[in-house]
Amino acid sequence: MKEAGIRYPFDAPPEEGQAAEVADGVLWIRLPLPMALDHVNVFALDDGDGWTLIDTGFDSKRGRGLWARLLAGPLAGKPVTRVVATHHHPDHIGLAGWFQAQGAELLTTRTAWLYARMLTLDVQAAPLPEQVAFWRAAGMKAGLLAQRMVERPFNFADVVAPLPLGFTRLQEGGTITMGGRRWAIRMGNGHAPEHATFWSLDDDLVLGGDQLLPSISANIGVYPTEPDADPLGDWLTSCAAFQPLARDDHFVLPGHKLPFTGLPLRLHQMIENHLGALDRLRAALATPRTAAECFMPLFKREITGSAYGLALVEAVAHLNHLLHRGEVSRTMREDGAWEWVRHG
Ligand SMILES: [Zn+2]
Repeated sequence: MKEAGIRYPFDAPPEEGQAAEVADGVLWIRLPLPMALDHVNVFALDDGDGWTLIDTGFDSKRGRGLWARLLAGPLAGKPVTRVVATHHHPDHIGLAGWFQAQGAELLTTRTAWLYARMLTLDVQAAPLPEQVAFWRAAGMKAGLLAQRMVERPFNFADVVAPLPLGFTRLQEGGTITMGGRRWAIRMGNGHAPEHATFWSLDDDLVLGGDQLLPSISANIGVYPTEPDADPLGDWLTSCAAFQPLARDDHFVLPGHKLPFTGLPLRLHQMIENHLGALDRLRAALATPRTAAECFMPLFKREITGSAYGLALVEAVAHLNHLLHRGEVSRTMREDGAWEWVRHG
């Protein structure tokens, strides 16, 4: 069977403060992020008398300033009447509350709303003991752990505007009309719990958020909120559930990188990348090791600096998956780190 490749109909993103029309009534906007992944894509869908935004970027002075420019410029002074948040991560939901305060309605999944609201209220001056225990259990390097214990941790509220009470729930199997099209709502899991994606019933558009990304893999992480979770299992189940829906001519508008076609191949890759990593991990776990000692087999390189935290939560996700499958066991060392080993 011949599989179509992955293609990028637009070879460059719109400039800062600009928008590109990627389909009738659908504007692509890029917002900056102060991280290694330095941008997020958001989309403005024309509803006639106003706009529905898909995601918002971080809440920052720069972000609010950019939105002021966008509203007066490419969005032609029409109001934002609805904000759809695909999932609870700050680069997606960061300014939802700010738009709500100006009269917009927020639509998102119940899980995304609860997580975002909980995390914005959960402001900590120092890491919680559960967080420290989690880092220790993952085998975080002693020097880094000591440093993090005295640093103010990242707080959601640093980059997410307060979310007022009240939202409209999006559910698996539902439909929504926006940008002159009806869209089927399909949930994904694994990158974020109950992550909404939207599949146009009237043309070939798909709004993928971080569930359907080209060229980079969505982070699959375990956190101290649910330390024994198996998000990688959730991710693989979601990819498999999307496969029968996906068509080569779907034009996917993702949360990061470039809009693309070739979704069936991309879903296949998203599954195979993790299955390959799991195979390398199984081989490495012939000898016991901590999550932090699994970077080489999982990512084929050592990881330091700002990517360390994301790599660590992703390593735990792969180990938890093997644990859920009954393929590995773990023992806690005297220093509080889990050491994992393959059975047999
Ligand atoms: Zn995300």
